[in-house]
Amino acid sequence: MSDTSPLPFVPFSRPSLDHEEEEAVLAVLRSGWLTTGEVTAMFEKEFAHVVGTRHALALSSATAGLHLSLEAVGVGAGSVVLTTPYTFAATAEVVRYLGADPVFVDIDRATLNIDPARLEESLETLAAAGRRVSAIIPVHIAGLPCDMETIRHLSVKHGVPVVEDAAHAFPVRQADRYVGTFGDAGVYSFYANKTITTGEGGMVATDRDEVAARIRIMRLHGIDRDVWNRYTVPEASWKYDVVAAGYKYNLTDIAAAIGRVQLKKAEAFLTRRKAIARRYIAAFSALDFLSLPAWSENHAWHLFIVRIREKRLSLTRDQCIEELQKKGIGVSVHFIPLHTMTYYRERYGLKPDDFPAAVECYRACISLPLSASLSDDDVDRVIGAVTELGGSRH
Ligand SMILES: *Cc1c(COP(=O)(O)O)cnc(C)c1O
Repeated sequence: MSDTSPLPFVPFSRPSLDHEEEEAVLAVLRSGWLTTGEVTAMFEKEFAHVVGTRHALALSSATAGLHLSLEAVGVGAGSVVLTTPYTFAATAEVVRYLGADPVFVDIDRATLNIDPARLEESLETLAAAGRRVSAIIPVHIAGLPCDMETIRHLSVKHGVPVVEDAAHAFPVRQADRYVGTFGDAGVYSFYANKTITTGEGGMVATDRDEVAARIRIMRLHGIDRDVWNRYTVPEASWKYDVVAAGYKYNLTDIAAAIGRVQLKKAEAFLTRRKAIARRYIAAFSALDFLSLPAWSENHAWHLFIVRIREKRLSLTRDQCIEELQKKGIGVSVHFIPLHTMTYYRERYGLKPDDFPAAVECYRACISLPLSASLSDDDVDRVIGAVTELGGSRH
């Protein structure tokens, strides 16, 4: 009897969850306290302990974390925030929430991260034009750390705070320090496909007391007292003051319970993702139609982004994606540069050629499946399907 059923789909990303997360959620559901409380406080304490910052603040998303971090370091209307177009929408939209304008800086083709030389040029050009630059947002794409030494130097020289978009970068170290702890604030994402997850969620790590204090107030309606304290501290539980027009960005204890378990497993997940990345690199290094990320220990390996050299293949990048999908491989593209998106293009009059490195990398890139839950068989399937793309050349 022949089995003609197609092989199961290899998902682009799948969270690693087991009975431990299930039991942690059940315990919260049975406790009677669902929203931000004791469990979230423990998650924050444990996270701060791991990354080694004075404060860690749990939020409903990394987008919320970026928004409140920028607000806390003084980004406001009329100012400019420097970041890269090679990122997810969240990185730049939060700048607009605050009435500031994102100014994009092109990437380094080798790393896909912000190019420090171009960043310096932009800082100088904007200063000469009399624009106030209120923050720099480096994005550690795929989990590869940006050149934080140079960026920190520029930050000090120009007096501009740094908010790291570390959505891809937990838990990776650079010079024995966690990525996300080099700037004035660092923002991690616990979205479902990130390196650890709470379903939806985020964390801001910072050593700056006043930044932490501001975020603590702004994440919950501008109230000067945590809800948790309000209901557990005996005196005057009804009394609170509103000191700012804040937001509703708190994390639930249900999500935090998942996060505490995931945090314990973060290093094991990283070890697994590194093993997969190593196998991909070993298997693909002989394929001349692919350009690969360089192997690095200091990499969170959230994404495995390859670039297609179309000239060496009879297929375009888009056709490669179709072929892989036909073979049951879940792939994605990171990222469509933000300056080519209607909103930024029209609002700031940007052209694709304004950031040639970002556009060139985007046109060639494919993200292959990479998550701790992939089996060795899944990885073999991906390797087979990618290798077969080469068979279609003339
Ligand atoms: C996922 C992501 C975010 C936003 O994370 P959320 O937790 O979904 O808000 C921000 N920046 C980058 C680069 C991301 O990939």
